[in-house]
Amino acid sequence: MDSHAHLDMEEFEGDREQVLERAWKAGLAAILCPADLTVEHSLDKTLGLKAKSPSLLAAAGVHPHQAAHFRPEHLAQLKRLAEAGTIVALGEVGLDFHYNLSPADSQRLAFRAQAAAAGEMGLPLIIHTRQAGREAFDIVQEENPGGRGVMHCYTEDWDLARRMLDLGFVISFSGILTFPKAESLREVARRLPLDRLLVETDSPFLTPVPFRGRVKRNEPRYVVEVARTLAALKDVSLEKLAEATTANFYKLFS
Ligand SMILES: [Zn+2]
Ligand SMILES: [Zn+2]
Repeated sequence: MDSHAHLDMEEFEGDREQVLERAWKAGLAAILCPADLTVEHSLDKTLGLKAKSPSLLAAAGVHPHQAAHFRPEHLAQLKRLAEAGTIVALGEVGLDFHYNLSPADSQRLAFRAQAAAAGEMGLPLIIHTRQAGREAFDIVQEENPGGRGVMHCYTEDWDLARRMLDLGFVISFSGILTFPKAESLREVARRLPLDRLLVETDSPFLTPVPFRGRVKRNEPRYVVEVARTLAALKDVSLEKLAEATTANFYKLFS
């Protein structure tokens, strides 16, 4: 299972179908693709893939990088998509104060509005945070108390992970978990319960070791390497880890 892959992006122009074929062949049970409503053709491409692949699920939202383009109309669009059962989650949304590609205040506004909307629609949130974990936590607590969701591509510390678990969220790890320098993140993963974990690629980014530097882009089949690393940290077999994360995935996104 790959809980987060951007297969709508131009890196997959030309071989999307083959990328999916390889993923299913590698044994992935499901892939979730988060579309961005402010990026041209992101939603069309995602829904086009979903129409052809029953195991591909879609989410939609406005990414913190795109927050300057967020408009109230996007909330109405999300509501229509949710009511039609087209999307299983709202996201990715959040705060990214590392890249700051949108002004911080636009990011806060877009995140608050979408966090509240997810609560109203009964959809789980897919949250992206970078150097903004505490503030993201406060916003979720204020705008979406009792909500569910995932902290995707987790890179924050144990304290935030624990708080998010308490709110009812799960934690998803990407290829970063396999990077040599990520020892403190692996320590966080060791402490998290198996029934609150997901794995993802965040394709086309963050190719895991040992493929890192050897392939031109990440793709969903490499999620197996993230799962292998996580299984070793949790001291369970790869099969057991895959079984648990797939169950966690369907519990959240159904
Ligand atoms: Zn992200
Ligand atoms: Zn992403």
